[in-house]
Amino acid sequence: MSPRVAVIGAGIGGLTLALELHAAGIECQVFEAVPELSAVGVGINLLPHATRELSRLGLGEELASVAVAPRESVYFNRFGQHIHTERIGRAAGYDWPQLSIHRADLQAVLARAVRARLGEHSVVTGHRCERVDQDERGVTVRLTRAEGSRTRVRADAAVGCDGIHSAVRRQLHPEQGPPVYSGHNMWRGVTVSPPILGGASMIRAGWLATGKLVVYPIREQVDDAGRQLVNWVVEIETPRHADRDWNRAGRVEDFIDVFADWRFDWLDVPALIRGAPEILEYPMVDQDPLPWWGTGRVTLLGDAAHPMVPRGSNGAGQAVLDASALAAELAASHDVATAFAGYERLRRPATSAVVRANRTNPPDAILREVYQRTGDRPFARIEDVISTEELDDIITGYQETAGYSLAALSDP
Ligand SMILES: Cc1cc2nc3c(=O)[nH]c(=O)nc-3n(C[C@H](O)[C@H](O)[C@H](O)COP(=O)(O)OP(=O)(O)OC[C@H]3O[C@@H](n4cnc5c(N)ncnc54)[C@H](O)[C@@H]3O)c2cc1C
Repeated sequence: MSPRVAVIGAGIGGLTLALELHAAGIECQVFEAVPELSAVGVGINLLPHATRELSRLGLGEELASVAVAPRESVYFNRFGQHIHTERIGRAAGYDWPQLSIHRADLQAVLARAVRARLGEHSVVTGHRCERVDQDERGVTVRLTRAEGSRTRVRADAAVGCDGIHSAVRRQLHPEQGPPVYSGHNMWRGVTVSPPILGGASMIRAGWLATGKLVVYPIREQVDDAGRQLVNWVVEIETPRHADRDWNRAGRVEDFIDVFADWRFDWLDVPALIRGAPEILEYPMVDQDPLPWWGTGRVTLLGDAAHPMVPRGSNGAGQAVLDASALAAELAASHDVATAFAGYERLRRPATSAVVRANRTNPPDAILREVYQRTGDRPFARIEDVISTEELDDIITGYQETAGYSLAALSDP
């Protein structure tokens, strides 16, 4: 008989896992701390390895209808000089698109699908997991309801998909401590804007020491003028930071000076930033890869297993890949401990490599190279600073590490 799984957390990883388990004929229920899945967060990117899995789950069209499929990734220095353009998604020859999407839209599509396929009671909100205990016959998930009362649930297995501040991870790895600050603070927002550079570009500009900017559209046609909802992120090297809280309000005065003269003929950066109705602030944090994730009938998935600095567009995508691997292992072996061990053998080394690459050589390492080689000055010819081969090597090196190179996804 197939096991019954308690999924802890209804974020991107937990909801995808519920859909994957359902598709594999495995029963599950999702327990989420917040009383209601509301529209929180800003932009997220799904690379073709993740959209392949989500398309297999039958969500490709619905996701594409609420997202933007960028065609190129474009790099500039802080003087607005063009460094490099790389085709991405279908424009680069992938069979699946890259999708830039509001996190809330992605979560809503997943939650709707879970409730439609698994039933209304498959997602239990307002139930915070405190700990999970296991014995030879199953697990006991101890939960606190939003109003403070306690309850417990029995299942055959539990998966901690409870994000960067995971209670399940803290229980399994009490020695690990809180997430580690990378030295870079981040402010984010969304602004309604006319399409920038044609409206299908993922833009990276500047460098962390003197201010870095990432801009990409996440919703099409938000008004009659054909404007888009544009996600922007600024990152600055600074010791100043607060604890990670996805909803912490930021203040424009704390960072706008850094971008005051970023007025290019293709984008007025201060105007874009000031156009956001709300600004969120959070530190770039991650954690060293764990030596093991779970034990017996309990394991971890997504940010709970491998929090990473968001510099390679891989946080959500790796959670999606975890979910499909875990469901495949459980379908292949209904012995939970064997399946979870197989899942961890596959996914822990792969995701640990992405955590490390995001610290050192994500695609925006291109910006670091140009910053260092030019001494942070304008260049006359980019070819004299960095060759096209070097640029391609940085990009393909990261793609191979993160598992979404064209070659890897073209395999039969
Ligand atoms: C509110 C919020 C806003 C975010 N905004 C962005 C963003 O703007 N851009 C971006 O790139 N990434 C954002 N992320 C992170 C991003 O969604 C994840 O990095 C990525 O999708 C991996 O997904 P995950 O399922 O592992 O974690 P998450 O998507 O973080 O989901 C974890 C879920 O577990 C729930 N949870 C936490 N603790 C418990 C508990 N003890 N018991 C039960 N449930 C629990 C959380 O409420 C959440 O729903 C956000 C995450 C959250 C929770």
